[in-house]
Amino acid sequence: MSENLYDLLSGRFPADRAKPCFLLSDGSEVSYGALEEAAARVAGRLVAEGVQPGDRVAMQVEKSVEAVMIYLGVLKAGAVFLPLNAAYTPSEVEYFLTDAEPAVFVTDAPAWVAEARTFEPLALAVPRAASDLASIIYTSGTTGRSKGAMLSHGNLATNALALHAAWGFTPDDVLLHALPIFHVHGLFVAMHCAFLSGAPMVWLPKFADAEVLKGLERSTVMMGVPTFYTRLLANPGFTRELASRIRVFISGSAPLLPTTFAEFEDRTGQRILERYGMSEAVIITTNPLHGERIAGSVGYPLPGVELRIGGGEETGVIQIRGPSVFGGYWRMPEKTAEEFTADGYFITGDVGRQDPDGRVWISGRAKDLIISGGYNVYPKEIELIIDELPGVVESAVIGVPHPDFGEGVVAVVMGQGDEVAMIAEARLRLAAYKAPKRVVFVDDLPRNAMGKVQKNLLRERYAGLFAGS
Ligand code: AMP
Repeated sequence: MSENLYDLLSGRFPADRAKPCFLLSDGSEVSYGALEEAAARVAGRLVAEGVQPGDRVAMQVEKSVEAVMIYLGVLKAGAVFLPLNAAYTPSEVEYFLTDAEPAVFVTDAPAWVAEARTFEPLALAVPRAASDLASIIYTSGTTGRSKGAMLSHGNLATNALALHAAWGFTPDDVLLHALPIFHVHGLFVAMHCAFLSGAPMVWLPKFADAEVLKGLERSTVMMGVPTFYTRLLANPGFTRELASRIRVFISGSAPLLPTTFAEFEDRTGQRILERYGMSEAVIITTNPLHGERIAGSVGYPLPGVELRIGGGEETGVIQIRGPSVFGGYWRMPEKTAEEFTADGYFITGDVGRQDPDGRVWISGRAKDLIISGGYNVYPKEIELIIDELPGVVESAVIGVPHPDFGEGVVAVVMGQGDEVAMIAEARLRLAAYKAPKRVVFVDDLPRNAMGKVQKNLLRERYAGLFAGS
């Protein structure tokens, strides 16, 4: 029996294929039938052009309906989908193309699909086993070479089914989709939930405030990165009434600040549902749809996910095993071996802890851990305290070279305040070695496309702060 993910997804498309899949800002729609037909033509073109099962098809394009048609057509043809961030420069792209050796590289999705329409549609999806590769997602890794996470048809199918059930999707849902589709969040997490319910998506090329507010009027679920929620809160047009149409707001890809969670609840009466995932495993934990959603916690492991904390302490690096965990990094067997334990757990690189009832809390990336004067300092603990101080919108705590302590704790604060007073306040609440030795104020924190604060850039920027101290 074939376990091609395409069959699972298209098998759940609505019986009435005239039902819309994409609701566009100009008022037009694209039906599930049109998506299916175009995907069949894309698959037909790929097969006619000699693409073999397992060949890679790379794509670097702006977000569009045609890009989704290509994604599904690639799956149907049994090929491996390789999306690339539209912001990558030619020299970055060259690295990915050399590494992945794709058979096809698409740079203009509408033009590519238009041409595919002249090919015969492929009637049946190319059979694939659950363990066969469906996609390679290059991680947005901030150090070293970017690694291609290999996700199989089975990895993606099990995760999609688990999320669809966990978040209670039905055909009556309408998903607001303003995320990029070169990353697992917009590509797999969001779209698969819609496909498995045969539900429409309000399809926005990007997060533009006015379009999002309009889109919310006809949506029932919103998925986003934390910055989407801070932007909504900054907009007076985002009212309790507007939010009341949404049955669940879901956040992930970066930590949701407890202050954002609280402000959102004040404004709307709704508690954002935070979940945790990564390119290597799609979604790992989620707060419950029914049940307590707690600010600062990423909830419980999804069914089938085994999660444990490495290192023998209460807080340590999260390790996971389960059917959605990837098979390894593309053409990096040694790197892959390093990041799995002998008993098959993937070492996520995220530091966290787990309550006895299973609830998970993340305190940051292992590589962001600060060692100051020989003591381990977890940035999150300090950030939570600084974020509470007046004038602070958000903080990022980093360690930079210090002549006496090895690393010195620095708080980079988005907002305003007084450095001396802030350090004094932190010292009242924290052991002296954890309190920042310096506070610097910035208008904005550097973030990547998924809203993650890029601490590596901050470490570079402030590397000389203690030189000569
Ligand atoms: P990526 O592979 O680009 O999706 O990045 C995955 C990383 O994002 C994870 O390893 C975490 O460090 C971070 N991340 C994702 N979701 C959350 C969350 N809800 N809270 C904290 N960190 C998160």
